[in-house]
Amino acid sequence: MTLRDIREGQSARVLAVGGSGALRQHFLDMGIIPGTDVKVVKYAPMGDPVEICLHGYELTLRLDDAGRIDAEPVPDAAPQAAPPPKPVSEHLGLGEGGRFHPKGSGDPLPEGTTLTFALVGNQNSGKTTLFNQLTGAKQHVGNFPGVTVDRKDGAILGQANTCITDLPGIYSMSPYSSEELVSRNFVLSEKPKGIINIVDVTNIERNLYLTMQLLEMDIPVVVALNMMDEMTGNGGSVDVNAMEAMLGVPVVPISAAKNQGVHELVDHAMHVANYQERPLRQDFCDENDHGGAVHRCLHAVIHLIEDHAKAAGLPVRFAACKAIEGDRLIIEQLRLDENERETLEHITLQMEKERGLDRSAAIADMRFAFITKVCERCVKKPGESRERARSRRIDSVLTGKYTAIPVFLGVMALVFYLTFNVIGAALQDLLAAGIEALTAAADGALTAAGVNEVLHGLIIDGIFEGVGSVLSFLPIIVTMFFFLSLLEDSGYIARVAFVMDKLLRRLGLSGRSIVPLLIGFGCTVPAVMATRTLPSERDRKMTILLTPFMSCTAKLPIYAFFVDAFFPERKALIMIGLYVLGILVGILVALLYKKTLFKGEAVPFVMELPNYRLPSARNTLQLLWEKAKDFLQRAFSVILIATIVVWFLQSFDFRFNLVEDSHQSILAAVAGLLAPVLAPLGLGDWRIATSLISGFMAKESVVSVLEVLFGAQGGVAAVLQPAAAASLLVFSLLYTPCVAAVASVRRELGRRWALYVVLWQCAVAWLAALLVRLICLALGAV
Ligand code: GDP
Ligand code: MG
Repeated sequence: MTLRDIREGQSARVLAVGGSGALRQHFLDMGIIPGTDVKVVKYAPMGDPVEICLHGYELTLRLDDAGRIDAEPVPDAAPQAAPPPKPVSEHLGLGEGGRFHPKGSGDPLPEGTTLTFALVGNQNSGKTTLFNQLTGAKQHVGNFPGVTVDRKDGAILGQANTCITDLPGIYSMSPYSSEELVSRNFVLSEKPKGIINIVDVTNIERNLYLTMQLLEMDIPVVVALNMMDEMTGNGGSVDVNAMEAMLGVPVVPISAAKNQGVHELVDHAMHVANYQERPLRQDFCDENDHGGAVHRCLHAVIHLIEDHAKAAGLPVRFAACKAIEGDRLIIEQLRLDENERETLEHITLQMEKERGLDRSAAIADMRFAFITKVCERCVKKPGESRERARSRRIDSVLTGKYTAIPVFLGVMALVFYLTFNVIGAALQDLLAAGIEALTAAADGALTAAGVNEVLHGLIIDGIFEGVGSVLSFLPIIVTMFFFLSLLEDSGYIARVAFVMDKLLRRLGLSGRSIVPLLIGFGCTVPAVMATRTLPSERDRKMTILLTPFMSCTAKLPIYAFFVDAFFPERKALIMIGLYVLGILVGILVALLYKKTLFKGEAVPFVMELPNYRLPSARNTLQLLWEKAKDFLQRAFSVILIATIVVWFLQSFDFRFNLVEDSHQSILAAVAGLLAPVLAPLGLGDWRIATSLISGFMAKESVVSVLEVLFGAQGGVAAVLQPAAAASLLVFSLLYTPCVAAVASVRRELGRRWALYVVLWQCAVAWLAALLVRLICLALGAV
């Protein structure tokens, strides 16, 4: 019997974990180990995947993968009798002084050394929240060398000579996705002076699994028990002193969201890093545990490889664990002799035989056995916490059998409605009025001052019109990001992935692809970057290639401009129609890819479903500020320059004489070359070609260039027919994404794929636009 045969609501005990390689390791790291009890919570509305609960948290699995896990039903765990009272020493309040280490003894690092810290923890444990608290707004955002994974560095507030790095969330030091590899490599090769390990205390067993591996790294560690407010609010508590004693590192209870205990955390982190106090204890295997097979094996291997690990600069205990697990990267780095390899294999085989588990499961089990001991001794768990009960109630609707999909559609509709019709639109009108007033004032001032006419033209018709029209979209873009980040941070998007997985699989994607695709409605650049959480290269590539079909916010000005000019009565319908068209074409292309470029199955889908949480205002504001800043920078760099260049090219001819009529300008001549290609679409005018070219720089500039070239909206309306306007809308929906997006594709997938994206999108756009124009013509629209 396997896990997929267990009914909803039933509990089962894992007997054996099948599968192989990284996936299997991932199962084990997530706590699915022979002997563990799991409960099948529910099946997704479409019957696949399944949500299970183990170690007190929720996880999703596909039925296929559940079928690889042998299990037998067990009677539902009886409501646990109150645990026997244990001698709990009163735990420290938030931020109260710890008693772990004698302050100020030993040899500090030389004065002036920069203390580098890595912030490591599971996904959704509050890393970003803590990072923002620690650094204030002063941070440097970049990429990790060689990969486009966001890297945020910042100095700790009030501490000179510090640098803390927010690493991608990981569950284990066995890399499963490319993000996990980044985090592991950072810790292994950049050797930070200290690690701040953030642990979600409401989900402590799974979080401590990573802690155990960090302790093996032989780098000073401080454990920050986050979400302490939730824990104590529900009547739970942690015996911090006992936990410090068991783990051998300082443990600090904090609440990142409420900024409690953070100072204390910083004190401890500074201390252990400054005095290089390494974890006191790295030996977690117990000689009494199941006859001690794992313990003996580990220590034998530690002695066996000690010299190799030192030579390779690897922490010994960590290297030994990985060598036993069969981690190829580490084994290669160790450069073992033939004899040593064989010895390693023999020791491991003997352990497997004695322990009755295979090597990976045995090591994972050893870690969880220790964690169980720690939790039994130090953690008083609340009954079902209010947050969890709330999550369950919310989930009964949001992932309910009949409600999930209607709710999802409703939520998306609401987001779009609020963005485009209510909040964003109102702010946009306000801003547009402001810009208009400013333009009029500047116009008046220039006229009064008698400024040269050419310069006057450049400033008013070029810069003010062009940049101004783009600027007025700032509110809509920020509002859109606000909602998307709300959905993501609250934990809803993970549910969407759970609900939609089966559907997306039909297209050859996985449920997780929904995140980048939804972000794609905001901007393609972060969407492409968001794909790095996808563990399979194939899914990742395919998702990246599909994001450009999701209409990004930068294209909104184009839609608004043309819809206002041509179809004012059917504004909403056409706007929504364009979004839907993008999605439909994306689906067709996905089906095509599935048959051609990306044959084969989407990879397993193992994902945690975090509790719903209210995102902190600070995180959200920070994000909005970053987006707004980014947009403003673009408006005043790329778009400003594009506008000026276009204005210049259309105002002069090849002999740099001011032209009377822009038909004789340089621009007309150059763009005229492209016009014939666009002629079948009804877009043969050189000015349209120009605006589309500038759209490659930034989509927003299509409109600003049109404004410069045609004057106000009436100008375009006189030149284009409605059918051509429709084809233009479709073309701009689908054609090549902007330079920034292409650059991010290049960083993720390489130059060839980036070029492919540009050409392929143009081809698809051309065909679709032609089709739309023909349909419009056939329907009688002129
Ligand atoms: P990350 O994925 O590790 O970067 O986690 P985030 O910083 O994005 O936090 C995940 C969620 O937990 C957010 O909704 C936060 O508002 C919330 N959160 C973070 N710290 C705390 C805390 O101390 N208490 C509570 N109640 N919520 C928190
Ligand atoms: Mg984060």
